[in-house]
Amino acid sequence: MKKLLIATNNQGKVLELQELLTGIGIEFITPAGINLQLEVEEDGSTYQENAGKKARAFAQASGLISLADDSGLEVEALGGAPGLYSARYSPKPDAKDADRRAFLLENLKDRPRPWKAHFHATIAVAVPDGSMEFAEGNCYGEIIPEERGTGGFGYDPIFLLTDLGRTMSELSMDEKNRLSHRALAVIAAMPTLKQLFSV
Ligand code: IMP
Repeated sequence: MKKLLIATNNQGKVLELQELLTGIGIEFITPAGINLQLEVEEDGSTYQENAGKKARAFAQASGLISLADDSGLEVEALGGAPGLYSARYSPKPDAKDADRRAFLLENLKDRPRPWKAHFHATIAVAVPDGSMEFAEGNCYGEIIPEERGTGGFGYDPIFLLTDLGRTMSELSMDEKNRLSHRALAVIAAMPTLKQLFSV
């Protein structure tokens, strides 16, 4: 059976994508599973450029159809920051997710609430022959000043889904996978994936 290579080393993303893809009968592997070590610099000026660069590099290196995503958190009061730089948003050189959340709250603390925000994901699916397809998803909510919940990763504990009254971290994996930006992007990419994998 043809396998899809998930071009990411982020374990949080792997777990989410695993759920989403297993649901449609596509088997996948991670770079570690084929002993592939590849660092792709995310130096593009759009999510699409970064996702495309990662997917293409992994497809060429492995000979497998590869899926990469580039995602970020956009906060209205900060003019869309941290956006493309969400993974690196901290003055600390060895920053962890918690440091980035603290830095975001520090930058927001004097601004009036609600701190409206959305997560964005662009997915690229690259075929080793060079062709590529893109899909996008957005998930809307607001940033809150205190952390709630234990699930997910990144900014999840301070991202409130306003209508649900729960943070991303307070959702089960199943729930997050019905409404997250990445889930919506994968759903938008389904026709491409189904065609490529004949499922
Ligand atoms: P990248 O897509 O690897 O460049 O990373 C995007 C960054 O955005 C992650 O490191 C997280 O900080 C943040 N991010 C993306 N998706 C999510 C999510 O589902 N929950 C929380 N944070 C996220």
